[in-house]
Amino acid sequence: MSDIIQLLPDHIANQIAAGEVIQRPASVVKELLENAIDANATKIEVNIKDAGKTLIQVVDNGKGMSKSDALLCFARHATSKVRNADDLFALTTKGFRGEALASIAAIAHVEMKTKEGNLDTGNRIVIEGSKVIKNEEIVCPNGTSFEIKNLFYNVPARRNFLKKESTEFRHILDEFERIALSHPSIHLTLSHNNSEIYNFHSEVLRKRISNVLGNGSNDKLVPIDESTDIVELKGYVLKPEHARKTRGEQYFFVNDRFFKSSYFNHAITKAFDGLIKNGLFPGYFLYLTVDPKKIDVNVHPTKTEIKFEEDKFIYSIIVSSIRQALGKYNIAPTLDFEPENSFQIPHAMRSQTPVEPSVRVNENYNPFATTSKSSTSYTGKASENQTTGITNHGFGQETAKSSEWENFYTIEEEDSNESLDLGLETRDHLSYIIKGNYIFTPSKTGIMVIHAKRAIEQIVYSEISNSFISNPITSQKLLFPIEKEVSKNEINIWTENQSILHQLGFQSSFNKETLSINAVPSVLQEETISNSIDEIFSTIAYQEIEKGDLAHTLIGAIAKSASLKKLNLTTDDKIQALIDQLFQCENHTYTPRNKKIIETISLDEIHQKLK
Ligand code: ADP
Ligand code: MG
Repeated sequence: MSDIIQLLPDHIANQIAAGEVIQRPASVVKELLENAIDANATKIEVNIKDAGKTLIQVVDNGKGMSKSDALLCFARHATSKVRNADDLFALTTKGFRGEALASIAAIAHVEMKTKEGNLDTGNRIVIEGSKVIKNEEIVCPNGTSFEIKNLFYNVPARRNFLKKESTEFRHILDEFERIALSHPSIHLTLSHNNSEIYNFHSEVLRKRISNVLGNGSNDKLVPIDESTDIVELKGYVLKPEHARKTRGEQYFFVNDRFFKSSYFNHAITKAFDGLIKNGLFPGYFLYLTVDPKKIDVNVHPTKTEIKFEEDKFIYSIIVSSIRQALGKYNIAPTLDFEPENSFQIPHAMRSQTPVEPSVRVNENYNPFATTSKSSTSYTGKASENQTTGITNHGFGQETAKSSEWENFYTIEEEDSNESLDLGLETRDHLSYIIKGNYIFTPSKTGIMVIHAKRAIEQIVYSEISNSFISNPITSQKLLFPIEKEVSKNEINIWTENQSILHQLGFQSSFNKETLSINAVPSVLQEETISNSIDEIFSTIAYQEIEKGDLAHTLIGAIAKSASLKKLNLTTDDKIQALIDQLFQCENHTYTPRNKKIIETISLDEIHQKLK
């Protein structure tokens, strides 16, 4: 029988390799971003069209490539990052396989421009299906830029199996966010179909995390900082009350590389045990630094699984440091972007195998209660506690005996009116109390009770109607349009009122019986948008409204839906801000729907009741 075995031609071998490395547009984004980081870029721009199906462009200001490297980088197993087998066991770069560019060039139309900083000219290479079409000297900026077009043009099976645009773009966002979270000092931008999605300037980690998470998230973060001989653990966990129904906000990084680990994830679940409801997932951003020799990155082509030599030790460090931090958070005020004086393992203990600290749990502490009792009022006590040892990091039992707290009761038990003057000037000595929807706070004449949700409704109503008078309301484009099945009648209602809805900040389109909302008034929180649209429909459809009142009725509907979101009054400062905003409204006693917002219980009434 004649010989039948042949070596595969390069372009076929590359296509096969591409099947492993490049699964979807997001894989290209990841590989190009990693290469830019390995090239020491300080600024990287990513521009995407049609979720990467039409264009993926990545422009960096890194070190660029020489004329011959510019061509060689597309060859299989061409890498500048590994020289000998030993290097494989001490990787400090993101890439090392030398497969990514060869794979991408095998299945797309690629244009690359690159220039080294010390040269006047650079090179432009055009390559399609592994074939070099152009290789010329050009004038271009320092660094490297890649344009990837028509991904999978010659692999129809892959192209056809790409998911819908919003899904593919979500994958791109995931990769981009992982890189952004692991390299806060790099200026990173992302745009999709010419609109800017992210523009992260070089910043400290806490700020970067807050920017990725979105507005107001700084207050949700609890710092973790632990150093041992085997692993350094830094980062943040989200406070237990911000646990979510999905795993979205869970990030592990080792030596600045994102990875997934169900084993370490279990350690975190254990640390949060008893603090979050069943079915919810804690949020975390944990950064491990370990000796590169003690991990194996090379277990999976896309490199999100990593083997750790000392995984058991790391597991127990994760559990203990998160428990300490959570214990501390419950007694410490929210920290700002300043350097944090976090709890440290005493030096002598660092080389010992850690034992999980025993945590003294305050049985009365309810993590789901909205009260902010212990978070900001007792800063004096909190800082005292920070200096105590591991086992003293309980859940705030001590702080409940704060002298201010005792004072509150002492005053209450006094009988004369004079000593009961709890006016504004003394308010900052006292905590607010929240029960259900109500905020209780002292006033000049007694106790003021504020219906918090109605307060929010009134604030949003005033904000929108005030700006509506002078300008159209600022609207915010949605990353993924919200789609709603609607009836013919509802289509008519929406179309008839289109211009006023537009003025209010809504942008929308119809496709048969699906309404797509592309932009909403920027005061609306994402979780309330859908509610808001329902409110609008029921308002216009079922109420007789004078034309002139329509705008205000609609603003009322938006305000009502905005108030349905979960109250997030976790600190005294937030409560104070809410009250201040309420008092700035022209009408702060009744909502637009004529519901009472504030009630004051006078001392006389209390005296009467206590007779
Ligand atoms: P790897 O990253 O595993 O080395 P790649 O195929 O991703 O393999 O890249 C091949 C080589 O091309 C890299 O080792 C690097 O030398 C060079 N290279 C790729 N992208 C860039 C870039 N943006 N800037 C400078 N050099 C780059
Ligand atoms: Mg690479």
